[in-house]
Amino acid sequence: MSDHVVALCGGVGGAKLAHGLTLALPPDALSLIVNTGDDFRHLGLHISPDLDSVMYALAGLADPVRGWGRREETWTFMQALKGLGGDTWFQLGDGDLATHVERTRRLAQGDSLSAVTAELCRALGIAVRVLPMSDDAVRTRVLSGDGWLDFQEYFVHRQCQPAVRDFAFAGADTARAQPEALAALHRDDLRAIVICPSNPFVSVDPILAVAGLRAAIRASGAPVIAVTPIIGGKAIKGPAAKMLAELGLEVSGAAVARHYADLIQGFVIDALDPLPEPLRGVTFFRAATLMRTTEDRVRLAYATLQAADTLRGTRA
Ligand code: GDP
Repeated sequence: MSDHVVALCGGVGGAKLAHGLTLALPPDALSLIVNTGDDFRHLGLHISPDLDSVMYALAGLADPVRGWGRREETWTFMQALKGLGGDTWFQLGDGDLATHVERTRRLAQGDSLSAVTAELCRALGIAVRVLPMSDDAVRTRVLSGDGWLDFQEYFVHRQCQPAVRDFAFAGADTARAQPEALAALHRDDLRAIVICPSNPFVSVDPILAVAGLRAAIRASGAPVIAVTPIIGGKAIKGPAAKMLAELGLEVSGAAVARHYADLIQGFVIDALDPLPEPLRGVTFFRAATLMRTTEDRVRLAYATLQAADTLRGTRA
């Protein structure tokens, strides 16, 4: 099928389904729009955690045990930095460090984040388009009981301990959507827009906050389908469940579906979860959504695409 699929994703969770989609579709049939709201500068380096998680997952380089970074990583740099009394709250493996150094060098040379990402993907043998949501800086901030925190301060330094009250995406209203991402959403042969099982508040919402992206998704005639990041009332990893609870929401896939209700026509909940109360304009599908193996990723990718295909033509 020549029809195109656009997938929105954050880092580790989203990257697993993104990987499944790359195995289920030809490379030119898929565009991945990746969150860059977590990007930050550290030790003089430009770090893009979600782009890196996606690249490592697609290149087969991701560490399956740690859940982030590269497999077979070594830590000489970190140990040496510690010995020098340097800043060690953000772990940088030696192989991972090479990605940040090379990205930072190319950005300093004047290349855009999109161009640098395309080059890194080429070098890693990734054929599918991996697109940062914007080449302009958007920075996710978290409102906690301790006031506003930069995302990495909240996520890594404070280990998600402060209770969240709200989120902001500084720069999102003036950031220009990445042009290929926008063009992909405007295609008239769009088969589906997939929202991967990523954290809705700090991985997907920053993408939707970039000027023009939410409107382009709304204007598209293609079905929009999201996959639950919550299984059995729990997140597989990270603070999504904790955030839902702290915001006074039910900790369930259904609550995530309600969060996206103005945007989606389909939502994939886990096969082990009860079918949610009906939600206007949203069809629920069930699938095994826990992705332990590559086969799980591919199976969920096919199930999601199949579900989206049943929704084709249902949009006004
Ligand atoms: P991050 O930016 O690295 O935190 O990555 P994401 O936001 O993309 O992914 C975090 C979300 O992925 C969490 O809410 C997890 O519950 C979810 N997640 C991780 N692994 C899986 C999985 O195998 N299946 C499903 N359905 N969700 C997952």
